[in-house]
Amino acid sequence: MRQNPASKLLAVFFPPRCVFCRAIIPSGESVCGWCQKKTVEPPPHFPMKDCFALYAYQKPVSDALKSFKTREQPAMARAFGGMMAARLSRTSATGPFDLATEVPMTLRDQRRRGFNQSQLLAKSVARALHIRHGCVLHKLRQTAPQHTLGRFERMRNVAGAFAVRKPEQVRGKRILLIDDIVTTGSTLRACRKALLEAGAELVVCMTAAASLPERYDP
Ligand SMILES: [Zn+2]
Repeated sequence: MRQNPASKLLAVFFPPRCVFCRAIIPSGESVCGWCQKKTVEPPPHFPMKDCFALYAYQKPVSDALKSFKTREQPAMARAFGGMMAARLSRTSATGPFDLATEVPMTLRDQRRRGFNQSQLLAKSVARALHIRHGCVLHKLRQTAPQHTLGRFERMRNVAGAFAVRKPEQVRGKRILLIDDIVTTGSTLRACRKALLEAGAELVVCMTAAASLPERYDP
């Protein structure tokens, strides 16, 4: 892609860097060759149908996503969002989509953290796909951290925890639901259920990473 003089100058002072190791990389890329070799692409439809993840949750991806939760990093949101959008376009996901949204946090949690990392990803994916972003879901109650629970407790923990703010915003819409990490899919299932019950036509899930079981054999 040809760059205009302003963006050429910007690239001199702020060269593009690998989202994982910060090495300088060619413009238009997000990950250096070294880090790319270390990443693993999870199989499509893991852990459920119509769910896609960019990377397996292991180093260096896990380190990047942990740091993404600790402070707001627009450059990382842009890089991940761009890569997630690109991955979606070469999967069997049934696009095009009308709207991208995220797994919401409770107001209390979002105030405490200052941002919702999944919302930053959803906005960035929406921009890359040229679709609308909307905060259409809300979280009705506090839940225990999913990583502290087993599979069945996870399902119970999030059952009925999410609701659609205004059903008219999702009725008949093809929705892309974004989160940072998927493990068993309980949270995404609970959000998808709320969206479908409110009349969404289709809900496809996309995450930055998937926590694959140690002995996963697709
Ligand atoms: Zn790197």
